Amino acid sequence: MNPAPETRLAIVTGASRGIGYAVATELGRRGYRLALLARRKPPLEEAAQRLASSGAVVDTYPCDVQDAAQVRATFKQILDRAGRVDVLVNNAGVGTFAPVHQISDADWDSTLNTNLRGVFYCSKAVIPRMIEQRLGHIINISSLAGKNPLPGGSAYCASKWGLMGLTYSMAEDLREYGIRVSVVCPGSVQTEFTPHRGKDAARMLQPTDVARVVGWLLEQEPQSFVSEVLLRPTQKP
Ligand code: NAP
Repeated sequence: MNPAPETRLAIVTGASRGIGYAVATELGRRGYRLALLARRKPPLEEAAQRLASSGAVVDTYPCDVQDAAQVRATFKQILDRAGRVDVLVNNAGVGTFAPVHQISDADWDSTLNTNLRGVFYCSKAVIPRMIEQRLGHIINISSLAGKNPLPGGSAYCASKWGLMGLTYSMAEDLREYGIRVSVVCPGSVQTEFTPHRGKDAARMLQPTDVARVVGWLLEQEPQSFVSEVLLRPTQKP
């Protein structure tokens, strides 16, 4: 049996701004209690205050998803406090864009470690509890760059193509426990993420477009799950 809406917990990484903040807003509106992560505490707390002022129940956890020990300690705190976890949205992500021969080792590592390794760490931290519950939804925010090559996108595309493989395989590992693992691949979204040089901001997707898809994914009946959504703007930015 599904728990009452007010007891359901959603964890959103990278929730201090952009898509993660919009997702947290959508899930708060749907009655989920929220556990929000990002590295920097002040913007995360400001975001939480805005969400709380519109009625959401929010806790904040400054955490770098690249760091296994930090993720383990943070998720233990979250699960001890809430006693359950219903939704994990792996949204935290960074982008490094340059021709492959100009990408530094440090930028390669931070891109792969945030966008791919971080998802592995955060997912591993909730899966045992979701298996006990026989219920849960993990939603990974990838990108159309996880399906298509981009000039200058080698590190970013490698991280997001890797994330597609991780998502599909996790879905196979976990479906028998009633856990859905889905991936959302948006095109360009108007956030602070990258300069989006040469693109028309008015034609881009908005963070709320991605948040709405995340909300829809959570509305499915227990016997079905949408495993992948490719989200495109109607007009090319
Ligand atoms: P954004 O505006 O730059 O926000 C990124 C969020 O992630 C911030 O809250 C940031 O806070 C947090 N973050 C970054 N590194 C982190 C880390 N190591 N540990 C924990 N939190 C971290 O980006 P966005 O546009 O909303 O993008 C969100 C996701 O959507 C990313 O995975 C991105 O790849 C994907 N996406 C974006 C677009 C686009 O065009 N914007 C398109 C497709 C997919 P701190 O800096 O304080 O940690």
